[in-house]
Amino acid sequence: MADRDTLNPQYPRPPFQTQTQQPPGLDSKMIPEPDHGEKSYRGNGRLKGKCALITGGDSGIGRAVAIAYAREGANVVINYLPEEESDAKSAIEVMKAEGVKAVAIPGDLRDENFCHSLIEQTVEQLGKLDILVNNAGRQQYCESLEDLTTEAFDATFKTNVYAAFWLTKAALRHLKAGASIINTTSVQAFKPSPILVDYAQTKACLVALTKSLAKQLGPRGIRVNAVAPGPYWSVLQTSGGQPQEKVEQFGADAPLGRPGQPVEIAPLYVLFASDECSYASGQVWCSDGGTGTL
Ligand code: NAD
Ligand code: MG
Repeated sequence: MADRDTLNPQYPRPPFQTQTQQPPGLDSKMIPEPDHGEKSYRGNGRLKGKCALITGGDSGIGRAVAIAYAREGANVVINYLPEEESDAKSAIEVMKAEGVKAVAIPGDLRDENFCHSLIEQTVEQLGKLDILVNNAGRQQYCESLEDLTTEAFDATFKTNVYAAFWLTKAALRHLKAGASIINTTSVQAFKPSPILVDYAQTKACLVALTKSLAKQLGPRGIRVNAVAPGPYWSVLQTSGGQPQEKVEQFGADAPLGRPGQPVEIAPLYVLFASDECSYASGQVWCSDGGTGTL
């Protein structure tokens, strides 16, 4: 058997250092810092002239998608929570270096009015909207259903499900034929873990949303797809998404023996959004290090 380290020598593998942050946490404080493609992603003009809104674009998967979109020639708005300002600022700097328009709009997606205003502000800033990436997410593990509070359940559903509904609904007045909606679901929608009862349900909701909206919006020329990540090295996991002992061994169960880095999943979001992929709608593409979830 080939030494697995020779396959991807640049990417870290478990065990990882114990580390905790209060949610939502900062990517810049993770050890090691995730790879969002700052130095590694190369664009090919696949999204030239397109305008995108990416929620949770400050860190993790959303940041990698934002950087990739900018390198592919798109103008990008990212949304995030105010306490993530420093991650957002550095993401914007990387994007602006590509010569595209990159705008940061902070705000809490659990507020319906804010979701509406985010879409309107995006169109004001960029002039149009072609790609909506519903990527923001809340994941807080809870060992027992008896300890899962209504407040926590509600916060997970508001962030992961309601926000996608509100943003998509508000975006529809602006999306034209050729536009694309991409939702970040999870392997949790298909193989839910016992300690992520609320989170896993929201990700299953997003799969159903993707598939039903693809049917509803197909006749308007709007494609709707989803990406289902397996274990990716992001601050979501180290700020309450997993217990510490799981953080230390994060990704160890995957056949590739390590978690994915955000840059490794960005190409799926690029392809879904590009005109080259114009017949793909209602799809869920998974990237899980060989586990074979989908
Ligand atoms: P992340 O913490 O870097 O990104 C999540 C983002 O969600 C945060 O940066 C934050 O800006 C945003 N967010 C959370 N609550 C918000 C709110 N109320 N209002 C506005 N924004 C809010 O972590 P990530 O792992 O990159 O997560 C991105 C997406 O990927 C999430 O939907 C997550 O569920 C999904 N996902 C991640 C993994 C993984 O292993 N990392 C696996 C499957 C799915
Ligand atoms: Mg963040």
